[in-house]
Amino acid sequence: MKNVVILGSTGSIGTSAIKVAQDLPDRIRVLALAAGNNSELLLEQTRRFRPEAISIGDAAGVPKLRDAVGPLCEVYSGPEGLVQLATLPAADIVLLAIVGTAGLQPALAAIRAGKDLAVASKEILVMAGEIVMREAHKYGVRVLAVDSEHSAIFQCLDGKPAASVRKLWLTASGGPFRDAAEWPKGKFPDITVERALQHPSWVMGRKITIDSATLFNKGLEMIEARWLFDVGMDRVGVLVHPQSIVHSMVEFVDGALLAQLSTPDMCLPIQYALTYPERLASARVQTDFARLGALTFEAPDEDRFPSLALARHAGEVGGTLPAVLNAANEIAVAAFINRQINFSQITETVRRTMAAHQVVAHPTLEQILAADAWARQTAAAGH
Ligand code: MG
Repeated sequence: MKNVVILGSTGSIGTSAIKVAQDLPDRIRVLALAAGNNSELLLEQTRRFRPEAISIGDAAGVPKLRDAVGPLCEVYSGPEGLVQLATLPAADIVLLAIVGTAGLQPALAAIRAGKDLAVASKEILVMAGEIVMREAHKYGVRVLAVDSEHSAIFQCLDGKPAASVRKLWLTASGGPFRDAAEWPKGKFPDITVERALQHPSWVMGRKITIDSATLFNKGLEMIEARWLFDVGMDRVGVLVHPQSIVHSMVEFVDGALLAQLSTPDMCLPIQYALTYPERLASARVQTDFARLGALTFEAPDEDRFPSLALARHAGEVGGTLPAVLNAANEIAVAAFINRQINFSQITETVRRTMAAHQVVAHPTLEQILAADAWARQTAAAGH
């Protein structure tokens, strides 16, 4: 039985994790749940799983929740609530599925309390990969990837050291604007929010769906892979694979390639992370190759999608630059969704903000958060 803390239980990843917990009642105990502002769904999940503790974003929501859940469940709120949950004595593993920087402090608190991490929030490794991996090593805890690509790589590596890797190949669906004939670069400024939110193969939150359309999602994943698997950016490649069946591949030094395949369903990588090193039976994912027919691959179009080069550069330079890329992108995506800037200006905002940044090498967490705040201001000032 694993005692699992789910931070971000009402979001896209969180609700998939809830399904996994429902599938495996004898193996997964939901110890604690944290939500941002959806107290209704949090309450429903609390009634179903009877966790030890829950947390809600805004302290104003606490009294009502406390009344509803009764005395057997502690109710916390805000950033301190996340840290409380992440360090509960009985917790074995903490699933971080909060969008944005809010997951950083609870992630480090969990590591220092000896908890394994299942990381779905990319920001944690993009911004602070060096610190997180160093601390995880120091405290002897595992950092397990929940992102489908990184889970695939982790499954293919199966414990092999970084020295046995020639290249990690992250696959990308290519997003809704993959087709260069239909979506030439000149049309990018006219892309509407509604069109960008239509993703061909995955159903996800809004921020990550826009990131998939700009390919910033893949850029962030390149940096994430660099830290998770301890390889240089030159050994992280991207392949566009529109069917989203091959979730990623490892090319080993002897030329052999291993890939992990299945129909896309986040429940699979979530279950693998929460039950690792076991592989438990689930009927949820079924893949019919005869029906799929062809799997295709192509190089990403870096001219139309400059996000990949920006991410490669940020990952190579390191220090505070990945945090700046991440923060500027968050601001730019929000501005695009609010119709303040056009689709092409998302990348432009990130490029401009990165160019203006004075990089701090080997930063502390405080320096990373300062760079994050600086980047948000600088990116927002441009529009
Ligand atoms: Mg992914």
